[in-house]
Amino acid sequence: MQLSVKSATNIFAVVVIVILFALLLWIDYTRFGDFKDSHLKISKRIVNDIKIEIERSIENKSRLIKLFSEENRELIITLYKEPKKITLNTTFHRRLKRYFPDLFASAIATEIGEPIVDDFGGNVGKMCVADMQSFARDHYYNVRIHPNKTAYHFDIMNTWSINDRKVIFFVSFLPDKIARLLQTGQAPNHKLILVMEDNKHLIEIDEVGSRDKITGRIDFHLSAEEQDRILYSQPIEGSKWLLVDIHDKDLFSEFRSEMIKELAVIFSLFIFATLVMWRFIIRAETRRTDAENELRKYVSHTEVLNRELEQVNKKLEVMSIVDEVTGIYNRRYFNQHVATEWNTALRQKTPISILLMDIDHFKKYNDTYGHQAGDECLKSVASEMKSFLRRSSDFVARYGGEEFIAIMFGLEADNAFSIADKLRETIEILHIPHKESGVSDYVTVSCGIVTVTPSKEQSISEIIKLADDALYKAKANGRNLVVQKNKTFSH
Ligand code: GH3
Ligand code: MG
Ligand code: MG
Repeated sequence: MQLSVKSATNIFAVVVIVILFALLLWIDYTRFGDFKDSHLKISKRIVNDIKIEIERSIENKSRLIKLFSEENRELIITLYKEPKKITLNTTFHRRLKRYFPDLFASAIATEIGEPIVDDFGGNVGKMCVADMQSFARDHYYNVRIHPNKTAYHFDIMNTWSINDRKVIFFVSFLPDKIARLLQTGQAPNHKLILVMEDNKHLIEIDEVGSRDKITGRIDFHLSAEEQDRILYSQPIEGSKWLLVDIHDKDLFSEFRSEMIKELAVIFSLFIFATLVMWRFIIRAETRRTDAENELRKYVSHTEVLNRELEQVNKKLEVMSIVDEVTGIYNRRYFNQHVATEWNTALRQKTPISILLMDIDHFKKYNDTYGHQAGDECLKSVASEMKSFLRRSSDFVARYGGEEFIAIMFGLEADNAFSIADKLRETIEILHIPHKESGVSDYVTVSCGIVTVTPSKEQSISEIIKLADDALYKAKANGRNLVVQKNKTFSH
């Protein structure tokens, strides 16, 4: 099966559009993937950097507490013995504040976590006590936010020995510095948050500070949707914190819708271009098919004309050799034909007879019955002569007005004569009335016949002349007669 150009163009257009669509989908997929990857990379770098900063900050605080404890050993021992002494308390806190500008509060507790000295006004929070006790027991402590009425804070703890008795010294800090780290560290469209993973992702600190500073939310646990938006997270060593980086709600959806818009524009432009090309090809194809059809029509018309011309030519050809009135061969054709016949007879040494036949008193016939009846008479005589001389070698033609000629082969002179005479008789027996003939009541003919075996010295025109002479004699002898001329030529 062969596809038409139109169907092939349609299929091509559809294939191109499908391929383009697939290509755009692939571009969408890869570009979106790249966009996500780039944000994941940003997220990883930031989280890792800020994690180190926060860990270093906690470590620094812990180191400074140790340093402070060493430097102020005497003061702390004295204070531990006399915790109510105001001057000692004031000195202790002044020095502590110099070490730690972001200090919130401090406390010194027994090895089982009972506060001896504190600047919480005796209101050390339950969580602080619980943490101290667990620290006293396990000797390690993971930092977390303590929600206190005055301020949310976090503690850094240390053990310390006074006269073989272990004491716990801890300092509380406001989380503002960590909040600032988060704020300055986070990337556009990203948000850094410290959460307690163990406690259903409870928010501890974000860019504004500890969760008591955060407005606009009731539940401080990250929702499932927020957890889905976490790009990267890392635990902060020495704390219960997990540093998470969350991307903005619309970051990816906005990128995707922008990209889809762009691709839609490209797709539309391409579709438009394809359609224009498609239309162009289809129009060109239509024009080509139209022209082809025109040409086909023209060719078939020409073929019809040629056939008609052929028929006309055939007719002309027939007309050129056939007599119009009688339908037998005309004189022109006889003249062409007779030469061939003569040569054949010459070659084969076959006798050839020339018979000339003329209607008697035909002028009178015309005068009596009219020219049209004359034509009919000519037709009847001709057709009778033709059907009478019906051997394949016999040849009959109209020679002149009411004169006919015949060529016969292979007949002896006598034979030829009797055939001619039989023909004459047959014509008369047609009983075509001719009342003015004077010879008979019917149309009659006179014949001159000559039979020769051709030789090179003879010519056909001489033989015809002999036949004509014989005919002349027949006329002169009273008509309705056959006269034979058997003269042989000799030079
Ligand atoms: P004869 O017996 O001596 O031959 O006398 P005739 O009258 O037949 O001969 P003539 O030559 O005097 O006249 C011949 C006539 O044949 C004259 C002419 O009008 C007529 N004739 C010749 N051709 C045609 C033809 O095609 N149709 C008709 N109707 N008549 C023709
Ligand atoms: Mg005549
Ligand atoms: Mg005549």
